[in-house]
Amino acid sequence: MNMQLQRFTVRYYLLIAVFIILTATLIYSPLHVSADVSQPSSDSFQTAVFTELETNLIDLGSDTYKDSSLSLARGESLSDLLQDTGISSLEAFDITDSLGSIIDMRRIQAGQIVNLRQTSGGRIQEVSLPVSFDRTVTARWSSHGWLSSEQLSDIFPVPTVVSARVESSLFQAAKDSGIPLSIMMEAIGLFSFEVDFQRDIQPGNNVVLLYEKLQNVDGENMAAGELLYAGMELDDRNVEAWRYERLDGTVEYYEESGDSVRKALLKTPVDGARISSGFGFRNIPALGFTGLHRGIDFAVRIGTPVMVAGDGEVIIAGWHKLYGYRVMVRHANQYDTMYAHFSRIATGILTGVRVEQGQVIGYSGNTGNSTGPHCHYEVHYYGKPVNPSTLKFPPGHKLEGDDMNLFTLERRALIAEFNLQ
Ligand SMILES: [Zn+2]
Repeated sequence: MNMQLQRFTVRYYLLIAVFIILTATLIYSPLHVSADVSQPSSDSFQTAVFTELETNLIDLGSDTYKDSSLSLARGESLSDLLQDTGISSLEAFDITDSLGSIIDMRRIQAGQIVNLRQTSGGRIQEVSLPVSFDRTVTARWSSHGWLSSEQLSDIFPVPTVVSARVESSLFQAAKDSGIPLSIMMEAIGLFSFEVDFQRDIQPGNNVVLLYEKLQNVDGENMAAGELLYAGMELDDRNVEAWRYERLDGTVEYYEESGDSVRKALLKTPVDGARISSGFGFRNIPALGFTGLHRGIDFAVRIGTPVMVAGDGEVIIAGWHKLYGYRVMVRHANQYDTMYAHFSRIATGILTGVRVEQGQVIGYSGNTGNSTGPHCHYEVHYYGKPVNPSTLKFPPGHKLEGDDMNLFTLERRALIAEFNLQ
């Protein structure tokens, strides 16, 4: 090794030493931390400082991120929406795939709110979907890629009693007294087993409902919970329905006697129906003679869904020259029901098929020997037509033993607490 080369080598090492000292000084001096953090280093201390700084920036600076809220348009997928913000289809796929590990993405519908958090450079950091009043699903960008988690908010059921006077209709009463429509719908469904809405309800009748308001920690109403009690004063009687969870876990509504409110057969197989012709002798112009009208006619618009009155088995589904398209169903306890003049029979309603109470079996129409759009409804008991509007249908279930005792205790507690009767 010659002298020149040796001197150069010494100077070289000196330079490196100075550089190291300088760098170390810069790193450990708090004043220069921010100047240095962008330099790559294997020094773990430096990495820690960097991470901490970055976190602080995120926490402190709301202006570092841009938050926006979009909603899915009809026919638009979440992936479409994300790509519209400028990201690649691959990244949009990663985000939806990650969210899909927590929620069924096929159930995301038009109108779904999508909250985005982007860096000032436009890079998406967070995509969150409030999927219900108490549940949000969020995908976050992390060093491991897109990771999703769900956030559940604490919700407290607060039982609330409301009373409403019926002036024109139950719907209007609900609106006027701030009762959630879903709660009133539930009450109407329960009353419909016992009440003929056309004849029984008079203006001035009172409805009392006890239901849960679901509130968040701040006491804000988020949604309606369960209907616990529904009662209605009619001119000649009172009707009531109490929610009770049986010891086997089944939830049903019961009368004070322990009979379930839900009866084996519905009184009205069509929603919003007006009775245009009752059961009994009458002039039947279409037939040109006076005869026994074997059922009840409900005047409804063509295409109105017709629900089967009870659980059973379809025994007729097809065309009849007088009844047009018709369906007949066999139920328990020797009851059959028949529905006629359909515009069409619902898909899948064939002879031998099992049907459940409330299932749509067809759509009202004016087929066969019919003088106008209506649904003709017959109930047969032991094969003979009977008048459905005066029939007392057997209850779907009756509480006994421990269930009956517990139900009575719970009911009395609610009556005392909410001054219900
Ligand atoms: Zn008829």
